[in-house]
This record gives sequence, structure tokens and C-alpha cells, in this order.
Amino acid sequence: MSPERFRRINEMLDKRQTDLTVAMENVHKHHNLSAVVRSADAVGVHEMHACWISQDKRRVAGGTALGSQNWVKTHHYSDVEAMIRRLREQNMQVVVTHLSDESVDFRELDYTRPTAILLGQEKYGVTEKALAMADQHVKIPMVGMVQSLNVSVAAAVMLYEAQRQREQAGRYDTAQISAEERHRVLFEGGHP
Ligand code: SAM
Repeated sequence: MSPERFRRINEMLDKRQTDLTVAMENVHKHHNLSAVVRSADAVGVHEMHACWISQDKRRVAGGTALGSQNWVKTHHYSDVEAMIRRLREQNMQVVVTHLSDESVDFRELDYTRPTAILLGQEKYGVTEKALAMADQHVKIPMVGMVQSLNVSVAAAVMLYEAQRQREQAGRYDTAQISAEERHRVLFEGGHP
């Protein structure tokens, strides 16, 4: 590895937000998965979570992700309950994105707290199970003719609000990543 690349990876790792993550519930279109991973990488998410109805784990490959999938590790689950349990073990507030009258405006939340942003399936949205287990239900206001945003667009909007709050709070000024994980990424490569 060239010294330049080594420096570049270290700089990226310095900004990683180990307590901010995205959880995808049955998001299955490759281009959406890839676009979510790319936005997650852009704001410093280090690990993501995904659960699937079937055993058919979707791999985020090239294309839209532009290689970002190599730098954001995705953990897979067979059901949403197991995924949310894991997030809770990491003391994350689980924020479910869902357009309903009961949901609060997404900008009202504090994303400097350890946070998992949960996104739902392209056609049907999040499940009742995810809604029941969530700490918060949030919506991105919509005043047009179409009812919802594309899931990857919703992810980017949410993530950049988290990025804005965290930048203001100085959360990008001090590295969060463990020495062990830094060593792993630098010397064993990004996430396969
Ligand atoms: N008909 C679905 C429903 O009622 O939820 C629409 C699903 S939407 C295309 C796919 C996912 O994008 C949602 O599950 C949610 O995660 C996210 N999403 C899209 N627009 C949103 C909005 N305005 N507010 C919150 N989440 C949104």
C-alpha cells in the first residue's frame, strides 16, 4: 500500500462513527442497498445491519456503491427481532422511519446519541414488529403528490441530519474507532 493510501484510510477511520448505524428491513433491490451503503460510508457509518425474509442474503456489489461496500461492514439477520435485539445490546436508540400521523419530524431527534436508523422495504415499508420494538417513529415531511421517498433517499436525508448534529457536537474531531479495528482495516483490508 502506498503511504498516500495508508494516510487516506487512516483519515477515513478517524471520522468513523461507531455509534451510528443503519438497519435495513427487507430492503432487497441491489441499487437501493448499494445507494444506502454509499451514503452511510459518506457520513462515517462503519457497520450496518440488514435482515431478510428469505435466506437469500443480498450482497452489495459494485455499481452504485462505488466500492463503499468494502468499507462498511454489513451484519445479516434472519428476522427483525434479532436485528433490533443486537442494536439494543449496543445501547442504540432504534429510530424507525415510518410515515404516519404518530411519527415525529425526524429533525426533532438527538442523533448524537448512539443511534440506529431503521429503513423499511421498498413496497410495504417497515413491519409491525419493527414499529412495536422501536424507541422512536420518525417521518420526513412530504407535501407533494407522491406518498414516500425512495428508501435510499430517505436514508441519505436521515444520515445527513445525524451528520449535521454530530459535526456541531464535535463528534468528527476525535477518533472513535478502536486500535484493534483500525489495525484490522489497515492490515487485513476493508470489509470483504
Ligand atoms: N408504502 C410504504 C409505506 O407505507 O411505508 C412506502 C415505503 S418507502 C418507499 C420505503 C422506506 O423508505 C420506508 O419504509 C422508510 O424506511 C423510508 N421512507 C421513505 N419515505 C419516507 C418518509 N417520508 N418518512 C420516513 N421514512 C420514509
